[in-house]
Amino acid sequence: MRRDETSIVHAGREFGPHPRPVNPPVYRASTILFDSLDSFLDAHGPDSKTLAYGRHGTPTARCLSDAVAELERGYRSALFPSGLAAITCALTAYLKPGDHLLLPNSVYDPTRQAAERTLARLGISATYYPPEVGASLDSLMTDRTAVVFIESPGSLTFEVQDTPAIAGAAKRRGAITMMDNTWATPFCFKPLLHGVDVSIQAATKYIVGHADVLMGIVTTTEAAWPALHTVVQDFGQCVSPDDAYLAQRGLRTLAVRLKQQAKTALHLAEWLRQRPEVERVMYPALPSDPGHAIWRRDFSGASGLFAFTLHAAYAGRFARLIEGLSLFGLGASWGGFESLIMPGRLHMRPLPTGIPPDVLLVRIHAGLEEPRDLIADLEAGFARLHEPRRYPYRASQG
Ligand SMILES: *Cc1c(COP(=O)(O)O)cnc(C)c1O
Repeated sequence: MRRDETSIVHAGREFGPHPRPVNPPVYRASTILFDSLDSFLDAHGPDSKTLAYGRHGTPTARCLSDAVAELERGYRSALFPSGLAAITCALTAYLKPGDHLLLPNSVYDPTRQAAERTLARLGISATYYPPEVGASLDSLMTDRTAVVFIESPGSLTFEVQDTPAIAGAAKRRGAITMMDNTWATPFCFKPLLHGVDVSIQAATKYIVGHADVLMGIVTTTEAAWPALHTVVQDFGQCVSPDDAYLAQRGLRTLAVRLKQQAKTALHLAEWLRQRPEVERVMYPALPSDPGHAIWRRDFSGASGLFAFTLHAAYAGRFARLIEGLSLFGLGASWGGFESLIMPGRLHMRPLPTGIPPDVLLVRIHAGLEEPRDLIADLEAGFARLHEPRRYPYRASQG
């Protein structure tokens, strides 16, 4: 098996005979034409990999899903119009009325909402487990637990879960394990090699990598594939050829972007840890992080996303820090080439130990800028925290 850096460059580029372009063409298609009845019937057979109808995937989309399946060491991958669509469709594939779902308390908030609204309406109950649970997850499982969902590290609070222990406990009770692996990407963590059955990526983030396309990708083991494939077909899930093209182009630089962005994030996290205004930095790649040991055991790298909290004395002045930053954009999502900063409020209950209620987290995404410029930008932001000015305050005002 070739190494990941090589797969990322070469996988999913087997789209046609030479001479040909490096990248797959953008096939725009709903209707596909056939020159014989036999070839039409073959293409529409149940296990056909041939292009048959645009909704079932164009060659552009197939290049992307093949590449991600190779990187994930999975059987096949399915493409969805957003990361959230990938999560909710995957949940629907393995849950039925009366089933029970276990979610980590630190799960991405829209996933929690989908469980509490739509899945609840379908007669599926959900309970939360502490992200540190490990093998004692077993005591939280019931005879009805059909799916154990993992997201590691957790959204906003970055707790690292013991995925092999959790997946092992789920397997012993006959439950499916699925994981939102958006933070690490399959370059830094391979869920299917750690006992997980279904691996989910918000490709919107690092695979696309340029903040301009929404997409979700689900990769499964061979055993788990038929259930997912049925839901993909029944819900008519597909992506546009332009988006598939951009995602496969983004993928080609995933390894170098991630390595650089993780390096910058660690640099920023270490700098923030020394700031007197900062209470706590949450980033598994920091040796002081509670999840560091498991992260080092299971992951081959980190991404550029982490969070910190300010001491209570400064929390009310948080706007002064953020407004006036010139390099960190204020916005949701992450995984692009550019740095971002965003406030986050915790929806999890109970709150993790050491975090007071209604705390304001500051989430940072490290982009590809030169770290010294990013630190200078943050340093000016921290200086504004100490100025006796009233909000709203903008640096340009003097
Ligand atoms: C962004 C994100 C998603 C959802 O992806 P979209 O493409 O925005 O729908 C899911 N999980 C995690 C951890 C995310 O950060």
